[in-house]
Parts: sequence; structure tokens; C-alpha cells
Amino acid sequence: SATPATLSAISNGARNGVLFKGGAAMEALSTMDILYSDKTGTLTHGDFQVVDHAADEEILKEVIYIEQQSGHPIAEAIVNRFKNLDLEGLDKTQPVEEIPGSGMKKGDIKVGKPSAFNDYDDPMDYMAKGISGNTNIIVGKNNQVVGYFSLADRVRKEAVHAVRNFQSEGIQVSLLTGDNEAVAERVAEEVGITDYAAGCLPEDKIRYVNESQKKGKVAGMIGDGINDAPALANADIGIAMGSGSSIAMESSEVVIVKNNLQKLFYSFKLSHRLNRIIM
Ligand code: ADP
Ligand code: MG
Repeated sequence: SATPATLSAISNGARNGVLFKGGAAMEALSTMDILYSDKTGTLTHGDFQVVDHAADEEILKEVIYIEQQSGHPIAEAIVNRFKNLDLEGLDKTQPVEEIPGSGMKKGDIKVGKPSAFNDYDDPMDYMAKGISGNTNIIVGKNNQVVGYFSLADRVRKEAVHAVRNFQSEGIQVSLLTGDNEAVAERVAEEVGITDYAAGCLPEDKIRYVNESQKKGKVAGMIGDGINDAPALANADIGIAMGSGSSIAMESSEVVIVKNNLQKLFYSFKLSHRLNRIIM
């Protein structure tokens, strides 16, 4: 069980907006060698704006209905942008399925990242419209591309400072995202991260974490989505954003209540001080 010093550090962390589920996580935080970070909703606000789109009204209605069943920030942005559309007359009996790290599916309609449409007959027309540096979403039906959305997101200011602080303590920070290469590169540069991987599926995020662990490194992982949950559970220290999906929080030992990554750095310093007392 936790020592009084550890309990005191945990309560200090809690007062400062970071919840630790146990003493082990508080003690381990400052031993971290590498911190893997998700992008959307973690380094960025995840409050996307639809800046461009193309789709006829029938398709648009289907997309809105489908995205209403998703908790992803991209889905929220699309639903919000077209909230005045009347969804009367849609087939609402067919199940809608979420494919973590990729998109959504309902019958023969698919909504998601462009790379999920590589097997389509002629995906190029719409894909070519994609704005570089934005998150571009494709809509497909019966093996044909029938729509596209381009969305922009903003980096969290505190994330930039927190990344720099962790790096100055010798912690390597690495970005793992399911989004495309151009967005990954732009966000990595804005945040000050040189090491990033784009197009990650949930299992890819686990693989990166495991590879570090095999090299004997203590790996932290921070994220917010259902796509991050497996990697959060596999990391030595799983850290979830408070605004994240409940499965991300259940899979983590640490929760940043108000999503401020500087508060995580504060907790890192608490952990550091604690380990000096213990050792
Ligand atoms: P990140 O790792 O940056 O948090 P995700 O793994 O959650 O991103 O998503 C990866 C990509 O999958 C998104 O950039 C988007 O292209 C696509 N995607 C995920 N969920 C949805 C959704 N509900 N609707 C449309 N596209 C989605
Ligand atoms: Mg995310």
C-alpha cells in the first residue's frame, strides 16, 4: 500500500487537476523514458471546423445520421456543421458500426480516412480535393466515392509548453496518430516533436509502445480516444484526457481532468520529488 508521502503527492496532484488511480502510477511517472502522445483531442483541442465539403443532400443526411452515432471529434464537427438538415426518411434500422482509428460504416456506406478507400474503383477525384495539412474524410457507397469533408483543428497552447518541459527533463516525446502524414507533420512541428508516426491503427500504437518496452524503456502513453485505449492499457503509465472517451479513462492509471498537459508536467515534478524522498 502507498506510503504517506505517496498519498500526499496523489492528493496534491488531485488538487491540481490530475487523478492517479494508485500509488504505483504516481511513483512511476518520473521514471518514464518516453512519452507517446495521440494527436486529435490530446495535442489538439479536437474542436474541428468543416472548411470544405462536397456531397449531395441524400448522402449528407446519411453521413449526419451515421456520425451522430460516433463520439469522435470529427463526427461532432460534421454533425454540428449540418445540424439544420432534416433526417426524416432515412433508414434508421440498419446498424451503424464504428471502426476505431478509421471511421464509420452503415450497410454499403463508409465514412472515414482516405486510406480506408484504397480498394475503391476510382477514389482519386474526391481525394485530390483534400487540403494538405487538413484532416480529410471520404464518404463511399457501393465501392464509389460519393463525398468528402475537409476539417481543420488547433493545437493546444499548453501542450506546446508541456512537450518542451518534458523534453528539457530528458523525456523523449513521440507523436502517434491515425491521421494523415501532412497533418501529423504540421502538428509535430507546431508542438516541437521530431519523432512522429501517421496512419496508426490502434494496434500500431500498441506496437510502438511495446517496441520501446522491449528496449528496456519505461513508456508512457497519453490519449483520449477508443483508438488509444489498447495502447493506454499496454503502456507502463497510461494517461487519459478528462474529455476523452470513457474507455480511454478506464484503460489508464492517470486522468488529466481539464486536459491541461502542463498539469501532467506538474505531477511529473511531484513524482520526481517523491522518488527523491523514497530512495
Ligand atoms: P488520432 O490518432 O489523431 O486521435 P483517430 O485514430 O481517432 O485519430 O482517427 C484516425 C482517423 O480516422 C481520423 O483522422 C479520421 O480520418 C478517421 N476517423 C476516425 N473516426 C472517424 C469518424 N467518426 N468519422 C470519420 N472519420 C473518422
Ligand atoms: Mg485522439
